[in-house]
Amino acid sequence: MKIFNTLTRRKEEFVPLEEGKVRMYVCGPTVYNLIHIGNARPMIIFDTVRRYMEYKGYEVNFVSNFTDVDDKIIKKAIEEGVSADEVSSRYIAECKKDMAGMNVLPATTHPQATREIDGMIEMIGTLIEKGYAYVAADGTVYFRVKKFKEYGKLSHKNLDDLQSGFRSLQVSGEDQKEDPMDFVLWKPKKEGEPYWTSPWCNGRPGWHIECSVMAKKYLGEEIDIHAGGEDLIFPHHENEIAQSECCNGKIFARYWMHNGFLNIDNHKMSKSLGNFRTVREIGQQYDLQVLRFFMLNAHYRSPLNFSADLMEASKNALERIVEAVSRLKDRIAASSTETAGEEEKALLGEAENFTAKFEEAMDDDFNTADALAAVFELVKFANTNVTENSSKEFASALFEQIVKLCDVLGLIVEKKEEILDKEIEELIAKRQEARKAKDFTKADEIRNLLLEKGIILKDTREGVKWTRA
Ligand code: AMP
Ligand code: ZN
Repeated sequence: MKIFNTLTRRKEEFVPLEEGKVRMYVCGPTVYNLIHIGNARPMIIFDTVRRYMEYKGYEVNFVSNFTDVDDKIIKKAIEEGVSADEVSSRYIAECKKDMAGMNVLPATTHPQATREIDGMIEMIGTLIEKGYAYVAADGTVYFRVKKFKEYGKLSHKNLDDLQSGFRSLQVSGEDQKEDPMDFVLWKPKKEGEPYWTSPWCNGRPGWHIECSVMAKKYLGEEIDIHAGGEDLIFPHHENEIAQSECCNGKIFARYWMHNGFLNIDNHKMSKSLGNFRTVREIGQQYDLQVLRFFMLNAHYRSPLNFSADLMEASKNALERIVEAVSRLKDRIAASSTETAGEEEKALLGEAENFTAKFEEAMDDDFNTADALAAVFELVKFANTNVTENSSKEFASALFEQIVKLCDVLGLIVEKKEEILDKEIEELIAKRQEARKAKDFTKADEIRNLLLEKGIILKDTREGVKWTRA
């Protein structure tokens, strides 16, 4: 499996630190609003990377943070007259709903910055001790960039160029820095802002330190993959490297992956242009599986343009897979022949080539567009070769193959049969009868059958209550 590593600007064979295991960190959103479709891109892409690694047999420890202390969150809290915590908790909950809609798996851990302040104070303390950070007169703690000789290695900038760039860009508070390139690790509180006590001043952490701390706590000092959108390469990821490597004395992340930007109708997405689209809005117009398909149909490192036309095309393409899967399901139910004949067995052997093609594409730096092309070839193959005379075994094998490959991409292509309220009530009544007759095996069978259809039963004193999952 090859990964394009931003650090080396090359595709490199993936070799994990620990055999069979992957430690992966993805920078998550700042939670002051509903997430937009730009934020959805790294979520979908890196969830797919994770799913593919799991498919290949790796155990993936996947950590993605929520930045829950930030100027924008504080501004919103002040506007609404509520606490910053209330704003961030609300948008974390909303973000999780959107993730579920896009079939993005929950991370192994979703740490939040405000819950990790102790770790940040500890890391900043170590950096000061080691001479990599200093405290200014007002209690601000800065990272001493020039002391880290490898600064710039991720963004491929050299220190001299950076320095001249910074000189022309003087901002407030600059005068107390030793060098314009130095960045903030801890800053003093302002009136009305949330703050924490620290040895340097009452205040709050800078943005970059949170990821260094959370990656170390949940994944260790050395990790395999660190990922995020390309806007994070500089300064965020560069600064994370500086903090982590100077604190721990080890290489922080082996592979750095970055997704390209999502634009709208060939424009940058921004609030001022009014072309800002939230995942929630898109979800009102389309099944969010269409958004997922749209993202996967391009290479993750290329810029991607969002447009109504492309979404319509994605909708139609996805529908083609869904229809093929549904036809196969009908065939499985209707076929009178159980086992595959010789000819069918040979065809199934041929169909394996599509899985090989799929894997080849994914092994080549997660080329999801080519992987999808392999799925479409398989769909075409199934449409052509499955007829009224096909066996159950043949149709099932192709069905399983398509569903499995789509599942690696996180695409749900199997329409779940709708179960009507009336059918649920009937099954519940049958379960009650079975329980009365002390036939608990049957009662459990019915409960499980309902569970498979997404119906959860709850036995209460007032009788059985049910909900759809
Ligand atoms: P933020 O909430 O701005 O910190 O962003 C969270 C994640 O979304 C980061 O990985 C960003 O790089 C990514 N991101 C933000 N906007 C876009 C966009 N328009 N296209 C692709 N990725 C984006
Ligand atoms: Zn980060």
